[in-house]
Amino acid sequence: MTDSADAVSQIAERIARGGRNIVFTGAGISTESGIPDYRSKGGVWDRFRPVYFDDFMGSRASRIEYWRQKTEMYHDLVKARPNAAHEAIHRLHEMGLLEAVITQNIDGLHQMSGLPDEKVVELHGNTRRIRCMTCGEISSEDAAQKRIAAGDPAPECHCGGYLKPDTISFGQAMPVAETERAVRLSETCDVFLVVGSTLLVHPAAGMPGIAKRNGAFLAIVNLSDTPMDGLADVRIEGKAGVALPGIVEALNRG
Ligand code: NAD
Repeated sequence: MTDSADAVSQIAERIARGGRNIVFTGAGISTESGIPDYRSKGGVWDRFRPVYFDDFMGSRASRIEYWRQKTEMYHDLVKARPNAAHEAIHRLHEMGLLEAVITQNIDGLHQMSGLPDEKVVELHGNTRRIRCMTCGEISSEDAAQKRIAAGDPAPECHCGGYLKPDTISFGQAMPVAETERAVRLSETCDVFLVVGSTLLVHPAAGMPGIAKRNGAFLAIVNLSDTPMDGLADVRIEGKAGVALPGIVEALNRG
């Protein structure tokens, strides 16, 4: 048995105990759906300079740059479909073995795989939803992108407010209810399975440590090292789209 096969069996065995199983996902789970992550080579930060929240609110030039970046990413987003890793997590839900997914992702692919909204805690929002920064009205990214394609590079609301994808930008406050729920889930879970995250962005990156300090079994599936690897009970250096279906297969074998 290879190390990785052994790790898959260990994770499956812990999940099968039927306790509170949490899956915590980052951009790495969606690369196999064609959405680049941020920090890998060729990722988003190789191509774009992040626009900080205060700059977005303070200058039209920044809003135009922000929307230019979002528009480039939108082309990947509309084509993206859940991959084998998202489907494996959905399968855990169907088997009654998933307490919740805590995700840093903004792509909505967990919900598209069939997970009910209430099982997905979105720490950084959802880019398919647009919010007016003045009146709070919600609209769709498709509608905003139609306006951009028609020549409006930084669309505004009928109230005059700035429209922004409902995601957390650098310098913007984290959503309170979601963050509190994620901390509670991390404190009380039995298994905490990290998939596809560098575990560098806080406060999200603090959750595996919270889970571990409260006695959870901590497993990490990632293509590269993370600062939490030393804390993990099991670590798989490999693709999410291979490891997660492997865990489900091991569960099916009993
Ligand atoms: P990150 O880019 O910092 O890290 C991604 C990690 O996933 C890397 O360590 C990489 O080695 C690993 N990885 C890449 N492909 C993988 C695969 N197929 N299988 C397993 N691991 C793989 O992303 P992060 O830690 O999530 O943090 C960055 C921020 O990026 C988050 O706040 C998130 O909101 C945002 N983001 C989201 C999306 C998305 O919604 N799909 C895409 C890009 C960035």
